[in-house]
Amino acid sequence: MLQLGRFRVDVVETGRFGLDGGAMFGVVPKPLWERAYHAADAANRIPMAARALLLRWDSHVVLVDTGNGTKMSEKQRQIYALDTSQYSLERSLEQLGVRPEEVTAVILTHLHFDHAGGSTRRDEQGRLVPTFPNARYYVQRDHLLWARRPTEKDRASFITEDFEPLAAEGMLELLDGEGELFPGVRLLVLHGHTRAMQLVLVSDGGEHLLYCADLCPTAAHVAYPYIMAYDNFPLTTLEEKKRLLPQAYEEGWILCFEHDAFVQAARLQAAAKGFQIGEPLLITPYPAATSD
Ligand SMILES: [Zn+2]
Repeated sequence: MLQLGRFRVDVVETGRFGLDGGAMFGVVPKPLWERAYHAADAANRIPMAARALLLRWDSHVVLVDTGNGTKMSEKQRQIYALDTSQYSLERSLEQLGVRPEEVTAVILTHLHFDHAGGSTRRDEQGRLVPTFPNARYYVQRDHLLWARRPTEKDRASFITEDFEPLAAEGMLELLDGEGELFPGVRLLVLHGHTRAMQLVLVSDGGEHLLYCADLCPTAAHVAYPYIMAYDNFPLTTLEEKKRLLPQAYEEGWILCFEHDAFVQAARLQAAAKGFQIGEPLLITPYPAATSD
């Protein structure tokens, strides 16, 4: 746990999965990203976390993103090497003393399945239901429009079962642009990865923590050329990194990495051509991962 002013901050491990290393690192040659991050498996996949963020203060219990969830078919689980044997959203929340009914708000950075998959689940009768029955779910309106009419490039990243049940239940709160959702919880809206992804910047008492979502999915992505091939508008991602990372460095922000299987969070250090991470920060200890 990290106490950031009045915010009790935890990371929530929801499981491990794998994505193609080449797609994760874009134009960066494989020998470089293998050194910067981790070696690929026989199918060229790299180990990935799906790490949500939990913020608690006063009567608020706010979850940011929900991981891959539990609805994938056996075939999908194999394609994405989904592994919830060690961590799951449910068990990690339990470890943190949070019951699903207690979550008051879910901020979805965007609706790609590895971020929004845990938002809904199947109940004992096989019906799709919201995982957090008493929460409001917050997403950018422009992003929902994009998710409902995705391009051929990112169509495979959206699964309507993750978010349409929420819309049908009237539980989605659609936001229009940047701003403070709660005092000290600011949403930054970016357009490089997908249309209107929202990052969460938590600030209190001069301290800041940025939940990086897919701007810098792993710590290796703080280097400017490390931009995912998944991004719809990679040059926009580059501009967004060049706008946010210098400020993060100057003001000593803690960056939390959603997909880094090895580093939960870190501050930035200056590097030859930009930034690299400093000492990794362990915000919430979990049993060590058994994968290599
Ligand atoms: Zn994404």
